[in-house]
Formats: sequence, structure tokens, C-alpha cells
Amino acid sequence: MKEKWIQLALRLAEATAPTSTDRYHKVGCAILRKEGSVCGIGFNGQPPGVDLTEDEALHRDFRRRLTTHAESNALAFCQPGDPYLLAVTLPPCDRCLVDAVRYGVKIIVCRPSPEPDTHPIPHELAKRLKVEIRVIDR
Ligand SMILES: [Zn+2]
Repeated sequence: MKEKWIQLALRLAEATAPTSTDRYHKVGCAILRKEGSVCGIGFNGQPPGVDLTEDEALHRDFRRRLTTHAESNALAFCQPGDPYLLAVTLPPCDRCLVDAVRYGVKIIVCRPSPEPDTHPIPHELAKRLKVEIRVIDR
């Protein structure tokens, strides 16, 4: 895939992130087909109709349990087999990586993890799933 599509996907993911309703971690995702057309964008947050109380929003573990990930929300717009490139503003978690592969994603590009100890890049799982992960610095 051409570098210009990778850069476009990252720019789209970064443009989508501020739309997130999560006040602490705003994550954006963009998914492109092999020829470069967009098949999905998404951001992290609570499902529609679920609003967090102030207390709930402050408790990270609880907030995370009610948060759908940007990748999952972007994949929801895609038909299986359409996605080729997934760009996300943070490294994907194991679940989103598996879901991306289920939809046909072959390349994942992401920004480096701001918390590499607690949120490492899942390189081993990606290798096992035969999907490429590229970490691209700003
Ligand atoms: Zn995830």
C-alpha cells in the first residue's frame, strides 16, 4: 500500500479522535480499503444512550468497562472483507487486533503507546494473526 494512503489514514484517525466523549483518552480510528477509499471511521466512548456520572467518569477501570474502542466502532461501518488498512491513534488492544483480522485488515498503523508498560504493542499476537503492525512516530 502506498505511503500516501497510510498518511491519509493516520490523519483521518487523528481528526476523528477529538470527537470522542471520553474526557481522558480520546482515540480515533480510520479504516481504508486496498485502493484507498474510506470504509469506516470511529472513536472511543460509551455506547449511545449511556452517559457516565461524574464518579463513574473518574474511575478509570469502571469507565473502561463501559467504553467501546475506536477500532470496534470504525469496524462497525465496514463489510467483512472490505478493510485493508486500519490506522489508530494508539496501539490496538488484543481484542481489537483480533476483530480487525476478522474483518480482513492486513496492515495496522498506529502511533506509539504513551504508556508502553501497561499498553504495549501486541507484536507477538499480530505475528500469529499474520497482520502487520507499523508504529509511526509523529
Ligand atoms: Zn481495543
